[in-house]
Amino acid sequence: MLQGKIALVTGGSRGIGRTTALTLAGYGADIAVNYSGSREKAEQTAEEIRRLGRRAIAVQADVSKQEECVRMFREISETLGVVDILINNAGITRDNLAVRMTEEEFDQVIDTNLKGAFFCMKLAGAAMMKKRYGRIINLSSISGIRGNAGQMNYCAAKAGIIGMTKCLAKELASRGVTVNAVAPGYIDTDMTAVLPDKVKEAVLAQIPLKRMGRPEDIAEAAAFLASDRAAYITGQVIQVDGGMGI
Ligand code: NDP
Repeated sequence: MLQGKIALVTGGSRGIGRTTALTLAGYGADIAVNYSGSREKAEQTAEEIRRLGRRAIAVQADVSKQEECVRMFREISETLGVVDILINNAGITRDNLAVRMTEEEFDQVIDTNLKGAFFCMKLAGAAMMKKRYGRIINLSSISGIRGNAGQMNYCAAKAGIIGMTKCLAKELASRGVTVNAVAPGYIDTDMTAVLPDKVKEAVLAQIPLKRMGRPEDIAEAAAFLASDRAAYITGQVIQVDGGMGI
């Protein structure tokens, strides 16, 4: 399904990103596994991909820093080639009630989750335009659609991701590049593991399918959007949330 394609997964060392990297590789893509601090985990993911018979590199870059994104894209094009599929997955939370939220907490989340995605879309988009082919998949969140108490920074970033997705979909459609978003509900990863049991129970009660999502649930949606089977889909947000957003 993705043979001959080169994919960059930001935040591919853990959680949804790691599973997405392995899933895309399983469908035949070569993968650049980006990470910020978890070098060992990213190297391990890349090694697992190589064992699947695909090419893979682990590439360090803090996506909130433009110069690091520029270096990352250069490294990828020198080793694997031009990126055909970009999965903007890197993300953090710094939860706090709005009235207590510090400027630093707000900026950190915006810089990583929103600006980081902008830098990567800008760099990938320029090359994809020339190639007249590309698939960009951005990780939004149910929090960016419905809002969530304690996450003003995160909700702003994830709602912003949807706006950027629709903007770039319109800008790049004539060049054969599609841009879509996946909005997960509550997925079982390090990000949600830190939530108190009381919060987890309250969340579960809101999920019609009665379970937390798994990284695989998101990875398969991303793989579909990355494939030629989704060639006529652009500017869309697919909610993968067990029905939570209904
Ligand atoms: P995890 O916390 O498990 O993993 C986060 C990943 O992002 C890690 O690989 C981490 O790298 C990377 N990362 C963090 N900051 C940076 C940075 N500045 N530069 C590069 N990489 C960075 O998160 P999830 O897998 O749960 O989430 C993945 C995405 O899905 C995020 O965008 C998140 O907002 C979104 N999402 C998740 C939901 C959930 O319920 N889990 C729900 C809705 C959306 P490193 O290991 O090096 O730190």
